[in-house]
Amino acid sequence: MAQPKYIFVTGGVTSSLGKGIIAASLAKLLQAQGYKTSIQKLDPYINIDPGTLNPYEHGECYVTNDGAETDLDLGHYERFLNVPTSQANNITTGRIYQNVIDKERNGEYLGKTVQVIPHITDEIKKNIRFLEESDNFDIIITEIGGTVGDIESLPYIEAVRQLKWEMGKENLIVIHLTLIPYLSAAKELKTKPTQHSVKTLMESGVQADILVCRTEHELNSDIKKKLASFCNVNSNCVIQSVDVNTIYDVPNCMFREGLDKVSLKKLNLKYKEPNLKSWNDFLKRYKNPKGVVKIALIGKYVELQDSYKSILESFIHAGSMNEVEVKVKAIHSEHINSKNVNKILKEFNGVLVAPGFGERGVEGKIKAIEYVRKNKIPFFGICYGMQMAVIEFSRNVLCIKDANSTEVNPKTKNPVIDLMEDQKGIKKKGGTMRLGLWDCKLSLDSLCYSIYQSEKIEERHRHRYELNNDYLDKLQANGLFASGMNENTNLVEIVEIKEHPWFVGVQFHPEYKSTVLSPHPLFVSFINASKKNVLVNGG
Ligand code: GLN
Repeated sequence: MAQPKYIFVTGGVTSSLGKGIIAASLAKLLQAQGYKTSIQKLDPYINIDPGTLNPYEHGECYVTNDGAETDLDLGHYERFLNVPTSQANNITTGRIYQNVIDKERNGEYLGKTVQVIPHITDEIKKNIRFLEESDNFDIIITEIGGTVGDIESLPYIEAVRQLKWEMGKENLIVIHLTLIPYLSAAKELKTKPTQHSVKTLMESGVQADILVCRTEHELNSDIKKKLASFCNVNSNCVIQSVDVNTIYDVPNCMFREGLDKVSLKKLNLKYKEPNLKSWNDFLKRYKNPKGVVKIALIGKYVELQDSYKSILESFIHAGSMNEVEVKVKAIHSEHINSKNVNKILKEFNGVLVAPGFGERGVEGKIKAIEYVRKNKIPFFGICYGMQMAVIEFSRNVLCIKDANSTEVNPKTKNPVIDLMEDQKGIKKKGGTMRLGLWDCKLSLDSLCYSIYQSEKIEERHRHRYELNNDYLDKLQANGLFASGMNENTNLVEIVEIKEHPWFVGVQFHPEYKSTVLSPHPLFVSFINASKKNVLVNGG
């Protein structure tokens, strides 16, 4: 098996420059030239994984097929490359230390003093190279979270320095993503912060091979020359990344700037024109919509875009397929009540109730679902959203007034949503939910079967509670159809209402599987149904 080549992406000056998008865009360009490419993310925080992190703090927790709870950048990698990732694609300092400490407790270090160098750096290097074992990749891109100069990042930068020395500079390159701020008072772009961050990297023994410069304005050739000479890189290796309207434009921008060309040259690999035809077909449809569909996204983390990242991206994919612009408005469920629900929701063609946890805001979600069920507005409930649909139906159709989830009211007499049996003894919070891919069998007479065109599907999960089957017969007899089940456990995966144009609640997370080239069929169908739901009052 040939040794893959490595590209590391570090960040300088400030966080949130979009290292993940640059890494994913470069990977896309390399993949489009026939190179088998993967991307991984190294996160310098001490949590074992982001599963226990508040979405306010860290954005969405992304779940892979193998049930790893990971950083949301892995979602970008999958959406760009259309290839699944796994636990091996996301490593945190917490995991590295846990492995090292476990080995120490097992006596594997044979009495040696365990230290950051070499033991932690060796463990980092071993984890970086895990992807080599899982597949035959030509190129592995590794994004290092955080900003150079952070204390937490130091062992990672040191690991890169060692790897570069071990592998040779034709086998490993470093791309440094940095910011060129524009001072409007002076009308000038400033290179100094970049010079400093490249220098900081150099203090750790790592020379950047390529600079990708985030900027609001084009860099002229003088600035590029200045950056090249002060930062020790060739001037064709100073790549500008000017702000664009959509992340999906970035691969084309990086292609125009030649990021793939210089990277391949440095790695001594052949360059050929990338084939971006299907990608550009998607972009063309996305940028030339023939109409607008308005969707309400009801949840509790609505202030931050990143909390529902995969759902928002899935809408973009599905909108492009339907040739419409999907305008999503996030609504806090705590603000919805029986008096204002009509006023708030009447302007939307479709409503999605988001995944979630805990008690806060659930009554607003239930009110919204009652409104869309009665008014025949397309409804899509995901995970907690599906569970809320079951509670709403139980209360308002089966007239079980105190129906609830034991997550919300542990003492409820009618737990229509209850903790899964195998969750009952679990005390530890991290990595203990029902996670990753699980099978689901669809009823042939269901809406979902007509959408998926397949009887057996596999979707990703992240939950502890489920529909309580003690209530299933009554729910079904009254019109809430359990159209998808896991055959081994009898767990209800999907509920539908047949006498409704589009009412689907899913226990799984379809948003994790939607990509640019394979938009998720449920999102595509939901947008199609919402498109048909023309607003009577014109919105
Ligand atoms: N809180 C619910 C559960 O644990 C739903 C989780 C979710 O929406 N991801 O079952």
